[in-house]
Amino acid sequence: MILDRRGALGALAGLGAGIAAGSIDAARASATSINAAPLVLLSSRLTQGGWAIGQAGRGLTLDLAGAPVPTAPDGRFLIAFDRDAGPAALLTGKLPSGYSATLPLAIAPRAWRIERIDAPMRPPSLPSAEYQRIRAAEVARTAAARAIVTGAQGWRQAMIRPAAGRLSGRFGSQRVYQGQPGSYHTGLDIAAPTGTPILCPADGVVILAAAAPFTLEGKLLMVDHGMGLSSAFLHCSAHLVNQGDAVRQGQAIARVGMTGRATGPHLHWGLRWHDARLDPLLFLPA
Ligand SMILES: [Zn+2]
Repeated sequence: MILDRRGALGALAGLGAGIAAGSIDAARASATSINAAPLVLLSSRLTQGGWAIGQAGRGLTLDLAGAPVPTAPDGRFLIAFDRDAGPAALLTGKLPSGYSATLPLAIAPRAWRIERIDAPMRPPSLPSAEYQRIRAAEVARTAAARAIVTGAQGWRQAMIRPAAGRLSGRFGSQRVYQGQPGSYHTGLDIAAPTGTPILCPADGVVILAAAAPFTLEGKLLMVDHGMGLSSAFLHCSAHLVNQGDAVRQGQAIARVGMTGRATGPHLHWGLRWHDARLDPLLFLPA
């Protein structure tokens, strides 16, 4: 499995072969009409919560299951798959002439950690009008942050782990209460002492550094990595950067804490590609 995306990106020689060598996942996809306008995956984790980076021939307009996929000036693109995506998806490229190329993608299912609870789901206490107003404003701020287009290039990089420590919560795990599913865990939890530096996993631009803690997320920092890919760092005790700052991979951008809804000091690292929630572990070397 190719994990070093940066390394794989150079390997475009021999495009006529259709699929860049070295990616097991890409080898499973079959490219059609490659000779006229190539559409290939260069490296990928074709599984729920995973991603792929590819190369589109000049002039191709891409869509994934009907949603437009932007391409960089060099033809590179990123696609990614929600926790419940699959089992198949179609990536299509079209030229104005009507020519089209299609990559059928098999999105491997995951065996999510499901905890079955033999008790009814706790009935939601009716939130107060005041809480609803605050929460709606917080959600609107995160949505507005993700709508900012920065041109960051971190999406091309193999990511690094943002903090050392025990993995205390996996992406996608879920409790089911007497058959009724609760919401799943949307990120990766890393337990670490308060004050531990949080390192930026890939280059980006800070799109949100909320001075006041959010009700659930606490002190929230969000970084755009470009092409619709963004990181969220929750429960921080401090931010070390400001909104609008360009940040580099490995730069200390915040400190671990337990602000917001947290039972102990830890980093919750969430990754999204547009609305799709992704598994951060699939962006790190194994
Ligand atoms: Zn978490």
